[in-house]
Amino acid sequence: MIQVENLTKKYGAFTAVDDVSFTARSGRVTGFLGPNGAGKSTTMRIMVGLTPTDSGTATIAGRSFADLPNPGLEVGVLLDASAQHAGRTGREILTVAALTMGLPKRRVDEMLDRVSLTPTEAGRRVRNYSLGMRQRLGIATALLGDPEVLILDEPANGLDPAGIRWMRDLLRGYADQGGTVLLSSHLLHEIEVIADDLVVIGQGRIVADGTKAELLASAGTLVRTRVVDDLATALTASGLNPVLSGATGGSDVLRVDADPEVVGKVAHEAGIPLVELRAADGAGLEEMFLELTSDTQREGNS
Ligand code: ADP
Repeated sequence: MIQVENLTKKYGAFTAVDDVSFTARSGRVTGFLGPNGAGKSTTMRIMVGLTPTDSGTATIAGRSFADLPNPGLEVGVLLDASAQHAGRTGREILTVAALTMGLPKRRVDEMLDRVSLTPTEAGRRVRNYSLGMRQRLGIATALLGDPEVLILDEPANGLDPAGIRWMRDLLRGYADQGGTVLLSSHLLHEIEVIADDLVVIGQGRIVADGTKAELLASAGTLVRTRVVDDLATALTASGLNPVLSGATGGSDVLRVDADPEVVGKVAHEAGIPLVELRAADGAGLEEMFLELTSDTQREGNS
């Protein structure tokens, strides 16, 4: 388990990480989501002792990273896939890491196999690797010591859709065996397919934190009908607050802050025929994320 409590990091007058607290639980994949510049990498660097914090603590299984005797056996870290010695081959990089951790050499082949790097690819120098291959090598390095915790910064960067699926399956299996996975991304959809829990950060602050199911469910219901005025009246009379959110082909869509079952019941009791009724999965999260992104871009443009 990873526990982050009240982390704050300032660069001069600028607060990159602002009183950040969250927990990544074992057996779960926790997605750390935020636009570029939100403070994800800084938080992760603090967790693994690469950046000093101004205040707050980060612990891995109850201990700070600096107190772990052989960190590679406890926590696998991938912060920057390109930060490898470009003149070494993938196999050499893994071999050096295995020696450092006191692991048998056969672990190297096991890991190459696990991340689907062929012997030929493993024999090439890393400077000739694609970003996707570097990510695979970085994940292999992180997994080498069979740690209980993985901290991965933007591991899906440079992976194609098949690669993202491969990584999702790998991390899923790892969490299902009790591992703790924290991975960051600046892309909502990328993380949505991988994570069980989400921690959303914007401008250094945590803006949402919960299970993916909770965060996606909070968006309410979308209901489509050809008699939108009647439905809006019936919903309002039931104490709900419908909002018009679109129209196509003679029917209109209302968004309602309630479960589909509640909305369906109101429509049924008022005798209103519906064209479509569904949970507005992710719409709330997506809107929140777009707002965060546009705030950041506004700042960047000013
Ligand atoms: P993310 O990983 O979410 O893209 P970062 O943690 O890399 O965000 O950066 C958060 C903010 O802190 C950014 O505005 C970045 O420019 C700033 N920052 C990061 N590292 C430094 C540094 N060493 N010196 C000054 N500012 C920094």
